[in-house]
Amino acid sequence: MTVALFPPITHGVASLDAEPLDVGPRFVRTGGMSRWHRPRSGVLMDTRRIYSVWCGQHVGGSRRAGQLLTAETIPDTLPVCATCDGRAVGTGQETDGPAGRTLLHGPRGLTPPRHCPASRMDLFEALPGGTTGRCLACQDVHPIRAMGGPYASRVGIVQHPPGEALFAPCPFHRWRHPTRDREGRLACMCGRPLTTPQ
Ligand SMILES: [Zn+2]
Ligand SMILES: [Zn+2]
Ligand SMILES: [Zn+2]
Repeated sequence: MTVALFPPITHGVASLDAEPLDVGPRFVRTGGMSRWHRPRSGVLMDTRRIYSVWCGQHVGGSRRAGQLLTAETIPDTLPVCATCDGRAVGTGQETDGPAGRTLLHGPRGLTPPRHCPASRMDLFEALPGGTTGRCLACQDVHPIRAMGGPYASRVGIVQHPPGEALFAPCPFHRWRHPTRDREGRLACMCGRPLTTPQ
């Protein structure tokens, strides 16, 4: 069982070598992907099938990304992309979600970053001795080093995982843009103060 595909509408210049595909597999992913996606449209380029999936990615276009896998029913334990599934069912391309399958969506910016956002920046309070500093973003103590090369030398705290006292995120910019306000306190680039959650 295949599924009917939408036309491969593009705002860019379509290659004359690309042949639109009318039908496609229900699910696609490349070897490196952690979930299955639903194809919205597809083209045949030479001998390669490239699918645009509902969440906006292209699957199958690059040899480097690994082999294209297709499925009518999912053969492994991986979840299905929730964006793809919701849109495929919402447009009527599919009548139902994937039976018994976890839908997965991980919105960006909801979980703290892997590295403390003050890493490699001068967002620290120097401690006696001059070789360590207390991170303004997470309060942990780490070495400080000269960074940035001979012409743009500055001192920064080394890259480190966020400590337990990491500041509560800005509602707009999350953990991405900590800086100092005029009084030297930690603030988001938009001016909102950033403090450790109580
Ligand atoms: Zn997807
Ligand atoms: Zn830190
Ligand atoms: Zn902000």
